[in-house]
Amino acid sequence: MATHTAEGAEPDEAEAESALETALRQLSAAAAHVDTDEGVIERLKHPTRVVEVAVPLERDDGSVEVYTGYRAQHDDVRGPYKGGLRFHPEVTAEECVGLSMWMTWKCAVMDLPFGGAKGGVVVNPKELSTEEKERLTRRFAGEIRDTIGPKRDIPAPDMGTDAQTMAWFMDAYSMQEGETIPGVVTGKPPVIGGSYGREEAPGRSVAIIAREAIDYYGKRIEDATVAVQGFGSVGANAARALDDWGADVVAVSDVNGAAYDTTGLDTHAVPSHEEQPEAVMQYDAPNTLTNEELLELDVDVLIPAAIGNVITADNAGDVDADVVVEGANGPTTSTADTILEERGVPVVPDILANAGGVTVSYFEWLQDINRRQWSLERVNEELEDHMLSAWNDVRAEVEARDVSWRDAAYVVALGRIGEAKATRGLWP
Ligand code: GLU
Repeated sequence: MATHTAEGAEPDEAEAESALETALRQLSAAAAHVDTDEGVIERLKHPTRVVEVAVPLERDDGSVEVYTGYRAQHDDVRGPYKGGLRFHPEVTAEECVGLSMWMTWKCAVMDLPFGGAKGGVVVNPKELSTEEKERLTRRFAGEIRDTIGPKRDIPAPDMGTDAQTMAWFMDAYSMQEGETIPGVVTGKPPVIGGSYGREEAPGRSVAIIAREAIDYYGKRIEDATVAVQGFGSVGANAARALDDWGADVVAVSDVNGAAYDTTGLDTHAVPSHEEQPEAVMQYDAPNTLTNEELLELDVDVLIPAAIGNVITADNAGDVDADVVVEGANGPTTSTADTILEERGVPVVPDILANAGGVTVSYFEWLQDINRRQWSLERVNEELEDHMLSAWNDVRAEVEARDVSWRDAAYVVALGRIGEAKATRGLWP
């Protein structure tokens, strides 16, 4: 398994559905609960557009290679398209479409004024020098310039891209437009219009939702035990926040295995992937576990925050946690989801739990438009408010309809999108 990720990881195993299959299945499941016009559901099965571009790159040795880039825009009824750009060898047009749909639901469940998009370049960024990555990013930005824009479609980091990638992207776009336009992408470094707290936001939102879930299921956070798979940005920030709020984080892992301490780890002393890659096992823990064993621990909360499809038909029967809170995108296969539901283990879905990333992207976009930076305190306060409000909206559907947390989140999202589409109507 990969060591980190988080934002961005999604199903890739044989048992798993593709992101597109998942998106379409969830749309149908939600449609069964929401009184939405058939025509609206039909429209939501299709992305507005998928742009494919050739991205030529001069390598450092003078040779030229041509990569393929995509931007899929699913729906913008509630506002500009929004979603990440990934540099990964397995990017496909279909995957971008599926992930763009996930972004539509994620933005709607958070009640952000955005629709869903996703894009990327079919490339292994680990095989490129920093200079090559910069040239590739700038050329890609140039090729999709007409498709994106601060009022049209706002990219962000995803797998294989980061704050520096967004800085190059914003610069290339701004140079071509002849003015500095920070709001064309989010996830930038704060010095050029990025938001404080954006990097930590997905992990922080996972922690907030886990804290609410602990409370909802009748435990005090001080008495709760937590296991976190993956110690990258999402896993480490979630684990550390929960630790700071009094929970006992008993196990955290990276690709090599898990550090385990029944009395609670000092999560700040365990190196995160960003601090030192794949170094979790260097922490002096009383016990170690495999990643498989971590998933089967008897804890109050299990947070899979590494890659997709780790809770499968094979191990869902052995998950012993009281609640699963999804940190990665798509860590639970649909078969595993059914098994956990039958066993009465609630699963709080990715589109709610890790949505802090795109929520702080929204704050960043507001800051860029207003040319006014918020303090970290303000970002975290507003993130807390947005997460609690989305949690309450989803909880209300869980209680009213007696459905799973996942179905409830999609019901909330589809209700908002369907209403907006019905109100705007179909043109012409
Ligand atoms: N790539 C991120 C996600 O999957 C963030 C997208 C954004 O901030 O626009 O949620």
